Formats: sequence, structure tokens, C-alpha cells
Amino acid sequence: MRNLEINCRNCGKTALVRAEPVYEGFRRTGEVFVCLECGFRYPSEAETPFAVHEAKPDVFTAEEKRKAPPIFGEEDFGHSCRWCAHYVVNPFDQRCGLTGKTVDATDVCFKFLRKNGSGAQ
Ligand SMILES: [Zn+2]
Repeated sequence: MRNLEINCRNCGKTALVRAEPVYEGFRRTGEVFVCLECGFRYPSEAETPFAVHEAKPDVFTAEEKRKAPPIFGEEDFGHSCRWCAHYVVNPFDQRCGLTGKTVDATDVCFKFLRKNGSGAQ
């Protein structure tokens, strides 16, 4: 005798089900599955709504990872202060030689001027 879980279509509960062999004369022809909550009989294994306890597949996570944008878009990367001719770095701060303001290497500026040989650094 096996006790299995089903999502019973008749009583709507997650219930245990009892497998009962079916005989035709002396020949065993199959099994019926009886809901232990409401007594509903499912005439075959194929028609029994067994509860599935599989671990959820990791598809969603993989999909999200694939869709995740790169940290720098192509455009931002190309126009960030890091690659700008006005970008001045010293041990204390990073500033824009044009405005004198403190900047970050990742800042994007509309006064961007491509530094010669940018990308070499
Ligand atoms: Zn039931």
C-alpha cells in the first residue's frame, strides 16, 4: 500500500491518496486512487492529479542573468570622464579640467572630448 499526495480535483485539498488494486477476475488490471479526504476515486493513475514536489527549475534566474544589462552601456562607457581629455586624476580627487568640478570616472558629460589614445590607460 502506497500513500501518495494529490491535489484533489473533487475536494480541492492537497490530500493523501490510497492506491487500490483493481482485479478483473484473478487478473490485476490496474489501480484506482482514492482521496483520503473525500473518498473520491480516480479510475487510473493517469487521471490522478498527483501533487508534484519537484524543485522549481532555475530557468527564471538564468533568464534574468542573460537579460541583465552590462554595468556600462556602450554609449556611457564611450562618453564617461575616464576617457575624456579634460579628466584630471590626482591622489586626492578626480576632477574635470574644464569645469574644475570633482567628477567620477564613470560620469557622463556632454562636454566630453575624447582623449587621444583613450583606452590605452
Ligand atoms: Zn478529495
